[in-house]
Amino acid sequence: MNQLNVNLDLVKKYNVPGPRYTSYPPATKFTDAISWEQLSTKIEANNRAPRDLSVYFHIPFCETLCWFCGCTTVITLNHDKGMGYVEALGREVAKMAPELNPQRKAVQLHFGGGSPTFLRPVEIRRLGEIIHHYFTFSPDIEASVEVDPRRLTRDHLVALREIGFNRASMGVQDFNPRVQEAIHRIQPREMTQQAMDWMRELGFGSINLDLIYGLPFQTPASFNETLDIVLTMKPDRLAVFSYAHVPWIKPSQKILEREVLPTPETKLEVLKLVIEKLTADGQYVYIGMDHFAKPTDELAIAQREKKLQRNFQGYSTRAGSDIYAFGMSSISQIPEAYWQNEKELPKWQEAVDAGKVPLNRACFVTDEDKIRRETIMRVMCDLSLDFAAMSQKLGINFAQHFAGELASLAPFEADGLVKRNPAGLEVTEAGRLFIRNIAMCFDNTLAPEGQRRHSKTI
Ligand code: SF4
Repeated sequence: MNQLNVNLDLVKKYNVPGPRYTSYPPATKFTDAISWEQLSTKIEANNRAPRDLSVYFHIPFCETLCWFCGCTTVITLNHDKGMGYVEALGREVAKMAPELNPQRKAVQLHFGGGSPTFLRPVEIRRLGEIIHHYFTFSPDIEASVEVDPRRLTRDHLVALREIGFNRASMGVQDFNPRVQEAIHRIQPREMTQQAMDWMRELGFGSINLDLIYGLPFQTPASFNETLDIVLTMKPDRLAVFSYAHVPWIKPSQKILEREVLPTPETKLEVLKLVIEKLTADGQYVYIGMDHFAKPTDELAIAQREKKLQRNFQGYSTRAGSDIYAFGMSSISQIPEAYWQNEKELPKWQEAVDAGKVPLNRACFVTDEDKIRRETIMRVMCDLSLDFAAMSQKLGINFAQHFAGELASLAPFEADGLVKRNPAGLEVTEAGRLFIRNIAMCFDNTLAPEGQRRHSKTI
């Protein structure tokens, strides 16, 4: 059993704003000073090799707003927006298609949002047609979709299976009715169970549930009940996120301030409970920062084999694939660059309708960024660094290159969060909670603490 031996003083000491490192440089470093012409040179070079592809579609619509939500959404009850959006996605893919090497195979497909199941089944099938027209799926494609059980029918899932989806992820957050009311997301247990039953019947190979701690009215006792229910549902994976309160980015989160949010003490108690309960008797393996997977799950195997990756969709097993993303606000990633689409629906739609690339901002990745990105990725995924292996992989003398950064880990070592020796370093079980802080030591893009727009690290 994992015992998290962390005291509150450490949480207070290290709980500062910091990136989540789903990209490096972090998205706060993206700029509108890069033109599509500059970017397309990199994309063209990227497409000379038939590297694996990961394809992402952002479906922004939700019928109602959950007050904790940090996603880029469009709240509407008007389902007639769905088909127009799907056809616009078709135009966006068609515009990008000539840039893509036809030999590239899609090993990953992801529908995120918003709520992809806002689309009607007929619209899901139409989007499937578009995708299959432009992309060749690898036989072992990992195709995952975010599903909202509150507006789901069995036919949605039939349509998703028909177009190739084999994994699904559902937001639950908490089963406690009082918490659900406070976050404006009423989703009774039976609804989630029904969705899971349909998914299993239809052959979805892996089901993930998302939970969030740090929401109003949550206590260790109430969250324990939620975990009990979750365990009866036996999801293959769980993501248990700490609530990111960023009202300066998401003003609707201010509504949650009307209620008393759990104290850092309570959040820490809940986290300890989560880890102890989910890893008890080896039911789930603790992955990276906030994920849990059955020991036989690909994610757990990738972590054991040190092949885990981190990208905008969180932890992933598919190394070496480039992400081409479509839809408003979506972010694409190749080794040399990141680029993000227009973040507002009218602007994205206008660009796509005019036959333009809906580019909002981008970031080129320098050789030094690549060295730091790989280092931060290994810390976040492997919870360790082997200096000889990193030197070989990166073509540098790792210990020399990062002498200053490694020295700056001294306080973490003194606090029992990191163990260092001349050959490498290891994040301790307690240090896992602080891996964003540890990764920050290798980040040379960080603004001074008071000027960071990130969520807090713990
Ligand atoms: S359903 Fe998901 S994306 Fe939509 S508002 Fe709720 S949390 Fe945000």
